[in-house]
Amino acid sequence: MKITEIAVFDHVLPVKNSSFRMPIGQITEVPTTLVRITADNGLVGWGETSPISPIYQPHHAAGDRAALSELAPGLLGVDPTHIVSLHRRMHGLLDGHHPAKAAIDIAAHDLTGKHYGVPVSTLLGGALTDRVPSYYATSAGETVDHMVDKAEAAAEEGYPRLQLKVGGRPIEEDIEVIRKVWERVGNRVRLAVDGNRGLTTRDTLRLSRECPDIPFVIEQPCRTIEEIASIRSQLHHAVYLDEATRDVSTVLDAIGRGICDGFGMKVTRVGGLHQMALVRDICEIRSMPHTSDDEWGGDIIAAACVHLASTVQPRLNEGAWIAQPYLDGSYDPDGGVRVEGGHIAVPQGPGLGVHPDATLFGEPSATFG
Ligand SMILES: [Mg+2]
Repeated sequence: MKITEIAVFDHVLPVKNSSFRMPIGQITEVPTTLVRITADNGLVGWGETSPISPIYQPHHAAGDRAALSELAPGLLGVDPTHIVSLHRRMHGLLDGHHPAKAAIDIAAHDLTGKHYGVPVSTLLGGALTDRVPSYYATSAGETVDHMVDKAEAAAEEGYPRLQLKVGGRPIEEDIEVIRKVWERVGNRVRLAVDGNRGLTTRDTLRLSRECPDIPFVIEQPCRTIEEIASIRSQLHHAVYLDEATRDVSTVLDAIGRGICDGFGMKVTRVGGLHQMALVRDICEIRSMPHTSDDEWGGDIIAAACVHLASTVQPRLNEGAWIAQPYLDGSYDPDGGVRVEGGHIAVPQGPGLGVHPDATLFGEPSATFG
C-alpha cells in the first residue's frame, strides 16, 4: 500500500459557552488541523493536531500547517502500514514539529487498521477494556464554591479522578479549593492538582506543605524540569510531569533522574501514537502511572487517545481526557467519541472507528499528490 494523496483541512472547534479557563487565559475557540491520507487502494485515514493556544506549548496552528506542507510531498509513495519507516522518513524531512508528525502518524494508524480490518488499539498491542476511565478537569480561576460544586457533580457523574487547575491567583485560594474538594468528595475520587507550569517554586512548596494529609499528585506545577527538580525532595506529594515532557527522550531523562512519579502525557506532543506506545511501555517497566490525552482536538484526537488508553495496564492508567464535554458538535454524525459516566467507550470497528463528515471541514487548505 502506498500513500497517493495527503489533504490538509483547517478547522475551528467552538468551545461550549466560551467557558474554559486555564492559567494561560480564557479559551473561546480552538484551531485544529485535520489530515486525510489516501492510499492507492482507495482507503482513507484521518489524523489531527490541535494546539489549545499559541502560548501553551511551542507550536501553533499555522506552524503545524507549515510543517505538514514541508512533510507531505516527501511522504507520497511511502507505505503507511510501515510505521517505523514512516517516522524515519518524517525525521529525515523535518526536525522536531512533533504535533504535525503526530497528525500523519494518527492517520497512518487509522489507515493501517482499516487495511487489516482491526481497531487501532489492536495495532497498539491490544485493548484491555472497552471503556476507559476519564478525568474531570476544573476550569482555572473559578470561585472556590463553584469549583467545589463542579468537583462534586463530576464525582457524582462517575468520574474516578478529578484534576484541579491551580495558579493565576493567590495560592491561599487554591489551597482552600483543594481542602474543600477533599472534604466533600475525597472518599470517592483520586485527586490531581495541575499547575500547568503556572506556579512558582515558593507557592508549590507552600501548597504541598499546607496539605500534607491530602493524597493528591502535583502535576507540572512549575515551568521547567529544573525548578521541579530543585524542590522535589521537599514536597509531600507525588509529582507528575506534563508539559515539560516534550518527547520520549525527556521522559527517559525524567525517569532516570528520579524527578517524577508519573506523567500527564499527550499523544501529539511526543510525536504520535507510535511514540506514545513507547512511553506507555517505558512507564510500565518503571511502574509509572500516566494519562493518555492531548491538548484539545476533536473526535480524531479523542479516538487516538482512547485507543491508546485502552491498552494501558489498569494499575498505571490515569485515564484519558478528551475535549468533547467542552465542545459544541462532533465530526461524526453517529455521535463520535463521548464521555459518559466519567468513562469513554473505545470506538469499535477498523481503524480509529470514527467516521468524520468531511463536509464540515470545507475544501482542503492544501492537497499533495
Ligand atoms: Mg496537565
